[in-house]
Amino acid sequence: MNGPVEPFKIKMIEHVKIPSEKRRKEAIREAGFNTFLLYSDDVFIDLLTDSGTTAMSDNQWAGMMLGDEAYAGSKNFYNLEKAIQDVLGYKYVVPTHQGRGAEHLMYGHLTNPGQIVPRNMYFTTSKAHVELAGGTMLDVIIDDAHDPENENPFKGDVDFKKLQNLIDEYGPDKIAFVNVEMNVNMAGGQPVSMKNLRELREFCNDYNFKIIFDATRSSENAYFIREQEKGYENTPIIDILREMMSYSDGCIYSSKKDCMVNIGGFLATHSKDIFDYTRGMVVLFEGLHTYGGMAGRDMEAVARGLREGAEYEYLKYRINQVRYLGDLFVKVNIPIVKPIGGHAVFVNALKFLHHLSRDQWPAQTLSAAIYEDSAVRTMERGAVSKGRDKDTGENIFPPLELVRFTIPRRVYTNTHMEYIAESIARLYEKRDTIHGLKMVFEPKHLRFFQARFEKL
Ligand SMILES: *Cc1c(COP(=O)(O)O)cnc(C)c1O
Repeated sequence: MNGPVEPFKIKMIEHVKIPSEKRRKEAIREAGFNTFLLYSDDVFIDLLTDSGTTAMSDNQWAGMMLGDEAYAGSKNFYNLEKAIQDVLGYKYVVPTHQGRGAEHLMYGHLTNPGQIVPRNMYFTTSKAHVELAGGTMLDVIIDDAHDPENENPFKGDVDFKKLQNLIDEYGPDKIAFVNVEMNVNMAGGQPVSMKNLRELREFCNDYNFKIIFDATRSSENAYFIREQEKGYENTPIIDILREMMSYSDGCIYSSKKDCMVNIGGFLATHSKDIFDYTRGMVVLFEGLHTYGGMAGRDMEAVARGLREGAEYEYLKYRINQVRYLGDLFVKVNIPIVKPIGGHAVFVNALKFLHHLSRDQWPAQTLSAAIYEDSAVRTMERGAVSKGRDKDTGENIFPPLELVRFTIPRRVYTNTHMEYIAESIARLYEKRDTIHGLKMVFEPKHLRFFQARFEKL
């Protein structure tokens, strides 16, 4: 089996090394068995996240040299605005320092205390910003998404019955807006179908609900629509993206993923009202409305990256490199979430470490064990990430308890993928010898970033 051929060549390299076994053991203990707390110097292959970890192109770096660092009216902002209008079809753009800055402005504006935000599975910062505004995020993704074995190609779809039930239970006035994530991160990078988006628009029109997308991984979602949904086989990615966005009122966007930059974000909308309000507020929290916390050169890199990231040949390579790693796992019987998603391979820790109880944090345990074995850094996406129930204070144990192997864009070769698969195969052989963890420090907000653990 061979990985997909890269549609680029390498112009600059960064040295990496594998720390000794002794140092790996020491490093993970010092980090409280939390991979977020490792020094990146101690990491050989970093699959913590695909966020801000992209290798930029020569075209993007050339753009960085054309930064117009004027406080107001930077020409790079207008290039960014034009790129968003061209690729996504939104008229109005508000720049922010990264995705959560956009969430703060957008979700804060649209959510009143006591309101509900239905969404196709939560995302950590999105949930936190809805809660900061006094709202509650509730899940309306189809059941298939909660089943790691289910091979539905569009596991990101919204379940209209669940949405209707929320409306019946709380009343339409309690719905702040409907939130839809593209290529749903916490479900394993699973796409939403165009059919579902189209039907959702009709559904929401009956109630006059606004639809806001988390369009962070919309280009990868558009690739899946082209590959899997009838009628889109030959449609240019940009046309697919524009149709997707036409079913929304606006979006928030973390540029650190599909726009292939190290920092940046924005919100965009078809609505003059949303634009007027958020543009008024951006100056309080982010910066002037023509930079929003980004340098001029950053905006130029986002503008160019948004266009590059929507190219079909690039996306084909990207999605298939992730599949290559997933297929290598399947070959040695590692339990993974299927189908293999857009940005990451998710290993089912409940199956891998079936001898551990949920409160021994199987995914956190596995993630730490992987680092110890090979200096590959992964991330827990399960109960530690999910946190506690807002009302009862109890730990929530979601059906999915996963370790995420997130592939940075254009950074690692297919040989790196093979190294990772060999390590995981080795660990799987001796899985019964892996002991669980106990949480010894728990931060109040987004605890997974800084929580500390000890070996049982
Ligand atoms: C990364 C991400 C965010 C938050 O964006 P940041 O740039 O990290 O602030 C929001 N939603 C999704 C789906 C993301 O993946």
